[in-house]
Amino acid sequence: DTTPVTVVGLGLMGQALASTFLRNGHPTTVWNRTAAKATELVAQGARLADSPADAVAASPLVVVCVSNYDAVHELLDPLGDALDGRVLVNLTSGTSEAARQTAEWVTQRGGYLDGAIMAVPPAIGTAEATVFYSGPQAVFDRHESTLRVLGAGTTYLGADYGLSSLHDVALLGAMWGVANSFLQGAALVGTAGVPASTFASIAGPLIGTVNGWLPDLARQIDKGDYAARDATIDTHLGTMEHLVRESESVGVNADLPRLVKALAGRAVADGHGGSDYAAMIEQFRKPSGSR
Ligand code: NDP
Repeated sequence: DTTPVTVVGLGLMGQALASTFLRNGHPTTVWNRTAAKATELVAQGARLADSPADAVAASPLVVVCVSNYDAVHELLDPLGDALDGRVLVNLTSGTSEAARQTAEWVTQRGGYLDGAIMAVPPAIGTAEATVFYSGPQAVFDRHESTLRVLGAGTTYLGADYGLSSLHDVALLGAMWGVANSFLQGAALVGTAGVPASTFASIAGPLIGTVNGWLPDLARQIDKGDYAARDATIDTHLGTMEHLVRESESVGVNADLPRLVKALAGRAVADGHGGSDYAAMIEQFRKPSGSR
């Protein structure tokens, strides 16, 4: 597959995308607001376009990766008909709403896929890189072999253009949740002189155990069946109180433990004290502060 590709936006990520396409034999046209960032890519064989319109005209597949959706629109809105018959793949991070609005605009002219990159630039083109795509399956299928060079974890999520952004933020949230809980724990045991590295060796297996719970939690959530199997939310709440009190008494930050406890307290107030932990999903499903 030697489909010509255009990459618009040559920040840290855009440069990694363009050099990966080049390395895999795709004739690659590039454009960046600050032209100097194309120098290395041109040395690797890329063609530097004179303008965004020239860049879009050069290839049937146009990948855009800039800071945010405002920048995407600043670049694309003036192009109008230049997008006719092109497929635009937007790998800029944003919200699902921005993705759907962009799709509405682009699809009046050409094909659109919204994507999200779950990798750092050095991982692009390797087995470690996951990139999500959402939009029409036929458009993804047509360009899958080209897009797959960006990472072995190339994943099509479905027709709804917002799915990539939704998964992106949902997974980042899970990542920060695990990392922050580990850091809170490290601060806590650190007050007794335990090095973070010692705590990491103890916390790692526990995180692995929680990972093992996910299929069962998901099954309960999907069925709406919260019959307690091992411990009730009442029992969890009692222990959360210990975490809050311990954090406060040794003088480490207690914000996260208090939030966790408040959520469980609301689940109990909603009548889920005797339910399995899976019933906590009801708290996450409604807006903050609503009863
Ligand atoms: P950089 O800050 O390195 O690059 C930003 C790019 O956006 C530059 O090419 C910049 O052009 C361009 N840009 C910004 N505003 C405008 C504008 N108004 N008009 C034209 N071009 C503009 O960011 P990254 O490359 O790291 O990130 C790009 C996207 O990729 C972001 O949405 C980011 O969230 C996402 N991403 C990044 C990851 C990473 O690890 N870096 C991981 C996963 C996703 P100029 O050079 O002229 O300033």
